[in-house]
Amino acid sequence: MKAVQYREIGAAPQVVTVPEPEAGPGQVLLRMTAAGVCHSDIAVMSMPADALRFPLPLTLGHEGVGTVAALGAGVTGLAVGDAVAVYGPWGCGTCPACAEGKENYCRRAAGLGIFPPGLGAPGAMAEYMVVDDPRHLVPLGGLDPVAAVPLTDAGLTPYHAIKRSLPKLVPGATAVVIGTGGLGHVAIQLLRAMTAARVIALDVTEEKLALAREVGAHDAVLSDAGAAAAVRGLTGDLGAQLVLDFVGAPPTVAAAGAMAAAEADVTLVGLGGGALPVGFGALAHEVAVCSPYWGSRAELGEVLALARAGALDVHVETYGIDEAPLAYERLHAGKINGRAVILPQG
Ligand code: NAD
Ligand code: ZN
Ligand code: ZN
Repeated sequence: MKAVQYREIGAAPQVVTVPEPEAGPGQVLLRMTAAGVCHSDIAVMSMPADALRFPLPLTLGHEGVGTVAALGAGVTGLAVGDAVAVYGPWGCGTCPACAEGKENYCRRAAGLGIFPPGLGAPGAMAEYMVVDDPRHLVPLGGLDPVAAVPLTDAGLTPYHAIKRSLPKLVPGATAVVIGTGGLGHVAIQLLRAMTAARVIALDVTEEKLALAREVGAHDAVLSDAGAAAAVRGLTGDLGAQLVLDFVGAPPTVAAAGAMAAAEADVTLVGLGGGALPVGFGALAHEVAVCSPYWGSRAELGEVLALARAGALDVHVETYGIDEAPLAYERLHAGKINGRAVILPQG
């Protein structure tokens, strides 16, 4: 079968032919319908060899939707042909975090060598993939697979980041979204669906700002040295109650801190290498800073339910599997509007 693999440190991903996998006991084989292209893949492919925690080659794709092709011995509750989304942050299933469905914060995954698909285990950018346990599958429930596949990360990650701050997003509050790409353009829609907050979007091109307005941002401003002042200007000098930074680079992280109101949450999602010092006087009083990772199994169900309710319009560009390297090139160049989705059978 065809698979998109990262094979050599620093090299571009390649489309290669690999043996079709089989579902072992307790596992599920999926025939893949769609796989999303995330900027985190580019971060992984930019790491030096000593920072990579798993061996190459790696089949990419940590956003996946497919249909059940075969059930391993002992698997019940699923039938061949069922359309399912893959919950990506695989954990051990039994530690206190996993028991709550928060496998993204599994206490034991690293020690046991358990990796998410596409980030250590063979991923979704292939004609078939093996899912280690049926608990990592959520029924699609009638959603369009191509529009739904980004929800497994570009939806789930901002959903988790926003949900923890909901008590602060009362009517009259402001939420800022820095970086309105794959995650950011879904974050804007989640904020509009889940809160009455005013949403201000920041990005570096007019095209991205136009998408931000189209998906519901009340204001969209250029992310430059004047961005924090612009947000303060739009909020009567108060600042925002939630700042979501989907870039995470030193300048955006500094701006995120500077535009946070007293008691705000500053939530750093992007992997841009920035850090925000916390200390008396460094930020407005009682600002809380955190850097969350992905989301829980229950939250993935909630995001899919929100999509079924018609609240989310994920913008996608589709590519056949042979064009996957081009999709990564375009993402790297900042040219994707919304999310790129690979069609592994195409
Ligand atoms: P993307 O490339 O689709 O979107 C990034 C957006 O940021 C683009 O629209 C780009 O134009 C914009 N941007 C770049 N520089 C900017 C700046 N200085 N100011 C404002 N906007 C700027 O990427 P994505 O797939 O949405 O991922 C976003 C980030 O989140 C990446 O760093 C990714 O690795 C990370 N991520 C983190 C998690 C997590 O669990 N913490 C999960 C998924 C992705
Ligand atoms: Zn991702
Ligand atoms: Zn666990």
